[in-house]
Amino acid sequence: MTFHPRFDNSYARLPERFFARVPPTVVPAPRLLRLTRPLASELGLEPEWLSGPDGLDMLAGRGGAAGSEPLAAAYAGHQFGNFVPQLGDGRAVLLGEVVDAGGRRRDIQLKGSGPTPFSRRGDGRAALGPVLREYVVSEAMAALGIPTTRSLAAVATGDIVLRETPLPGAVLTRVAASHIRVGTFQFFAARGDLDGLRRLADHAIARHYPEASDAALPYRAFLDGVVARQANLVASWLLVGFVHGVMNTDNMAVSGETIDYGPCAFLDAYDPATVFSSIDAGGRYAYGNQPRIAQWNLARLAETLLPLFSDDEKAAIAGAESSLAAFAPLFTDAYHAGLRRKLGLRTEGEGDKELAGELLTAMTANEADFTNTFRALAGAAEGEDGPARDLFIDPTAFDRWAEKWRRRLAAEPPWPGRAADMRAASPAFIPRNHRVEAMIAAAVERDDLQPFEDLLAVLARPYDDQPENARFADPPEPHERVIRTFCGT
Ligand code: AMP
Ligand code: MG
Repeated sequence: MTFHPRFDNSYARLPERFFARVPPTVVPAPRLLRLTRPLASELGLEPEWLSGPDGLDMLAGRGGAAGSEPLAAAYAGHQFGNFVPQLGDGRAVLLGEVVDAGGRRRDIQLKGSGPTPFSRRGDGRAALGPVLREYVVSEAMAALGIPTTRSLAAVATGDIVLRETPLPGAVLTRVAASHIRVGTFQFFAARGDLDGLRRLADHAIARHYPEASDAALPYRAFLDGVVARQANLVASWLLVGFVHGVMNTDNMAVSGETIDYGPCAFLDAYDPATVFSSIDAGGRYAYGNQPRIAQWNLARLAETLLPLFSDDEKAAIAGAESSLAAFAPLFTDAYHAGLRRKLGLRTEGEGDKELAGELLTAMTANEADFTNTFRALAGAAEGEDGPARDLFIDPTAFDRWAEKWRRRLAAEPPWPGRAADMRAASPAFIPRNHRVEAMIAAAVERDDLQPFEDLLAVLARPYDDQPENARFADPPEPHERVIRTFCGT
């Protein structure tokens, strides 16, 4: 069929030093593995065309889409605390932007389609496993209601990529509000390129924080906006047990979407010290450290913006500090509001933080599964304690806590939908690490994509009880537990 995507590429209209233009790549035998059809339609991209030869050429990075202006964006970033003045899209190519059915501008980016001028020593490619992981986890996050980039398509390239072992190559098509990162601001700040910085900030404001342009201090309002969205984002991560794994400043989007799914993973048993990433030896990006790291990254963003705040350095710093100071209360409010919903509370009471904290402490001491404990609380609110208490090594630890909880529940008028509201705040299904690993193994070792499809189907409705899929809610058996995850770059 004939169809032309309607690209409108605002980033490509920024000065040439913002990016490098990238020619199409050679892909021997692309094969479409999956297309998120409703997302394609939402983007005004015809699913039938996307799965045909021209669409496949586009999704494989071979060109073929009129109006696309492929580019690799320049950015810098702090990686594990160390500043790298030039990173950039080394294995990603922005095809362009489309305006979706809701009027929102969205980036269409290929990940793994080949080298770019920013590839450094990398090959610009992606292996099938990490592509499928990002596909599943980002789509699961979207279904959980958490701001995130989306996965539009996965294409097998027919190429072999060399990692520790030879692996099948693949390309992920990622959709994002934008790919502007904290590290993008750092790129211009590190070069003393004030004009570039201002153009980037104006672009980001127009795209993500249009209300800031009417504020008395637009660049401060922009920082305030990013701080608020990140505070809410990290709270929503913690509330579903998500560990990003590589919260480098180049992996933090100023749009407030979760971006760059690498060694990410979800908690099984609750322990705030949990680290999965093989390269995070110091636990910098542990589950419980994520709020602190977000705040650290935002401080790096604020530093880049100082020259835009005021010519008076002292005044600029004071402004940045006051914007950054909002993070902690915003995060705490969002996190505790979420915990109250999970506990079935509509009102805010004196000891609620302690009540939630005591449950979490008991969960850690008793290796209770995070997702299943909170899900089972809805049943406990209806009088069925068994499933919740059985998740604790010592079930009486739950009983002791539940006594206090019941007193607190009784202190506010019950409402008929309480348990249903609790289930809407605590998913039954998350992308369990052992399920994700088994799905990858099936695809890579046996060319079997059924587990990938099955996982996506279950995770599309994470808040629904799906009795027929109950096994997807099971925590790993001891031998299935995933202790380490890898970036797969
Ligand atoms: P990430 O770990 O995805 O945040 O990537 C960090 C940096 O390394 C980014 O600049 C990436 O573009 C680059 N990078 C990661 N993997 C590759 C690869 N296979 N080839 C080239 N560059 C890469
Ligand atoms: Mg990255």
